[in-house]
Amino acid sequence: MLIVQKFGGTSVGDISRIKNVSKKVKAELDKKNKVIVVVSAMSGVTNQLVDYCNQVSGLISNEAMIEYDSIVATGEQVTCGLLALELQSMGYKARSFLGWQIPIKTDAVHSKARIEEIDGEYLLKSLNEYDVVVIAGFQGFCEQTKRISTLGRGGSDTSAVAIAAAVKADLCDIYTDVDGVYTTDPRITDKARRLNKVTYEEMLEMAYSGSKVLQTRSVAMAMAHNVRVRVLSSFGEVNENSGTILVNNNEEIMERRLITGISYSKTDVRLTLMKMPDHPGLSAVIFGALAQKEVNIDMIVQNISADGKFIDITFTTGKDELERAKHAIDSIKDEVKFSELKIDDNIAKISVIGVGMISHSGVAHTMFKTLAEKGINLLLISTSEIKISVLIAKEYGELAVRVLHDAYGLEK
Ligand code: ADP
Ligand code: ASP
Ligand code: MG
Repeated sequence: MLIVQKFGGTSVGDISRIKNVSKKVKAELDKKNKVIVVVSAMSGVTNQLVDYCNQVSGLISNEAMIEYDSIVATGEQVTCGLLALELQSMGYKARSFLGWQIPIKTDAVHSKARIEEIDGEYLLKSLNEYDVVVIAGFQGFCEQTKRISTLGRGGSDTSAVAIAAAVKADLCDIYTDVDGVYTTDPRITDKARRLNKVTYEEMLEMAYSGSKVLQTRSVAMAMAHNVRVRVLSSFGEVNENSGTILVNNNEEIMERRLITGISYSKTDVRLTLMKMPDHPGLSAVIFGALAQKEVNIDMIVQNISADGKFIDITFTTGKDELERAKHAIDSIKDEVKFSELKIDDNIAKISVIGVGMISHSGVAHTMFKTLAEKGINLLLISTSEIKISVLIAKEYGELAVRVLHDAYGLEK
């Protein structure tokens, strides 16, 4: 078998953990599997690098984001070199690869670049030459700017899945600090239960709405290229019952519940443009300016005044996009004539996810009733076919997850 193994930040957090990772690699090599390893930076390192950048720049221009990428990509260079060294010490022929050396080609949206192409043939050839290759996650190379790019926070998951797709690997094992995907973040409630299987669609919604165990794009990529993805713990034994496997088909999941999981995100910010004279094309101007600055928008709500003349537009985006969003809005303030821009980052987004809700009613009612009983006010609501999200005050975030987890009977 050809396997891609990805190890996250905690799993490579210090030298003893890197040695632990080398044992997981050895276990696959002993089984005569071919192995490509993808690593993250040591835990805390990327945060520290991002913090350095924030201390010297508002990170608004494209030129600034290019420098940001060359700085934050360095964490992975250290861990891929160290793991290759450790594997060499064990007697293996091992080498490390940085993103540009493969190359992992991306678009020019620095700091959240998308992978466009990976030369799988080259990687497969190097697997003939080496016992094992170790690749720096999170980073790529942008042909257009001729610079190092990064794939957004948590992007090593996407590196791993993209590489697995490019070499047509049999399996992509994502090793992390929890032993699989849970009904909700196991750090919020010890009632969270590990899911043996979860569909790609559900995982996509869970990741998108805050379950950072997998980066959203890695799930989308796995879905598009049919990559078999397993989520496993770096710590402890792995057997065929371990972890969580992503599956295509709902029928593969025997024990089906109405709700599969609850996601929690506290990295959003809510912006409201107040009292704008209404006219056709107003939203296009606002969201056009935001798109031009590469600001990702999540929820959108529009309110019309009683006389129909003015509107307020509220939307949410990530806190790390706030400065660029403010810049974009500033550039159109004369055109859209809002009376005030309100910004609120004291919010949490809670989402319940499950393909079961396609065929069952009452899911939303249970959610709203449960939150109301705790006196939790809903600031915004949005839905998809398999997800309901609400925005609430941040202080109630964890409480909301716990009471909803009970209300939908997700406990062990
Ligand atoms: P890594 O550094 O290995 O990429 P991350 O910190 O990015 O690890 O992701 C793992 C973390 O995701 C866990 O420690 C857990 O707190 C969090 N998490 C959030 N939601 C879930 C969930 N539904 N199931 C499992 N873990 C989750
Ligand atoms: N080191 C990067 C981050 O912390 C990428 C990753 O860990 O997946 O976001
Ligand atoms: Mg991660």
